[in-house]
Amino acid sequence: MASTARCYMIGPGDQSMKPATDVTEMLRGIRENDRASVGRAITLVESNATDDRRSAQELLTALLPDTGGAHRIGISGVPGVGKSTFIESFGLQLVVHGHRVAVLAVDPSSSISKGSILGDKTRMEKLAASENAFIRPSPTGGSLGGVARKTREAILVCEAAGYDAVLVETVGVGQSEIAVAEMVDFFLVLQLAGAGDELQGIKRGILELADLIAINKADGANVQPAELARAEFERALGILRTEDGWKPRVVTCSGQTGAGLEEIWQLVSEHHRLLASSGELEERRRRQLLGWMWSLVDEGLRSAVREHSEVSKSLRALEEAVLEGKTTPTVAAEAILSAFIDRERAL
Ligand code: GDP
Repeated sequence: MASTARCYMIGPGDQSMKPATDVTEMLRGIRENDRASVGRAITLVESNATDDRRSAQELLTALLPDTGGAHRIGISGVPGVGKSTFIESFGLQLVVHGHRVAVLAVDPSSSISKGSILGDKTRMEKLAASENAFIRPSPTGGSLGGVARKTREAILVCEAAGYDAVLVETVGVGQSEIAVAEMVDFFLVLQLAGAGDELQGIKRGILELADLIAINKADGANVQPAELARAEFERALGILRTEDGWKPRVVTCSGQTGAGLEEIWQLVSEHHRLLASSGELEERRRRQLLGWMWSLVDEGLRSAVREHSEVSKSLRALEEAVLEGKTTPTVAAEAILSAFIDRERAL
């Protein structure tokens, strides 16, 4: 049973049994919804140290039976669209309705910009003060793949702690949307009206990821333009996917006044019910799990190839040969892979 999990690290030649991280204690804390334990567990999950990685996997394995119970919601939008204001209001509304809300983030740029989202502790102050909310900035450092892995694992920790709404925030640029869409059940894109040609400003790829587009800041003089933008997005979405049985919607809202937030939760719930009853929700999560596993294999192999002492010597020359047009990428890739496989076989 999960609660018996222990974690002892025995290093090579080290005969003493040294408790590394007290996984049992952490498990108890998470199950009792102790926010400090949830925070410590996420710190463990975010650590790159080998011992911590092992403890983290032990912890997550023990937690797995208690995971899966949340609405996993991705929220995207360019800086300034009003994400943190929206998430605070939306989160507070959920708390009032008896939900427990975790807010996580995927922001691969945050290691450079020192936290462009969720880094500033003054953001979402009211939500952060709620006993039923847990807010965590984006993990910093490393590739998007690394940041995404850590956030996926943080979702599991939050679910095991009983958070039933997990909001994953991301900036509306680059590949991070795709990474977030691949770890959530529902993907919400916040947009602004009157920011020029509505459909020019949004990459078609993001439209295709969205389960819901919300034209934010629909308050005051902006109500009318927001409604116009909504109608325009709706026309554009009309030609897009419905293959999972869900037709993406477009609404207006205001994180500042709270207008439209209730409707957004209704849509999230409707989507959840629909996909759960058709089996698509479980299917989607299964696809995501396997996609996650294979992306870890891809990443692991890539770094194994790069770090392989013998193979790495020829990488530079092969890269140059490709750049100088002396060989094709295919031939170079085959040379790298067969060198790697041969060396591994020889071991
Ligand atoms: P983020 O960068 O996407 O997280 O955006 P913020 O939530 O920090 O908001 C950016 C700016 O827009 C701030 O000055 C907010 O006060 C303002 N803002 C956010 N939400 C709304 C809204 O619903 N209506 C209006 N009028 N302004 C908003």
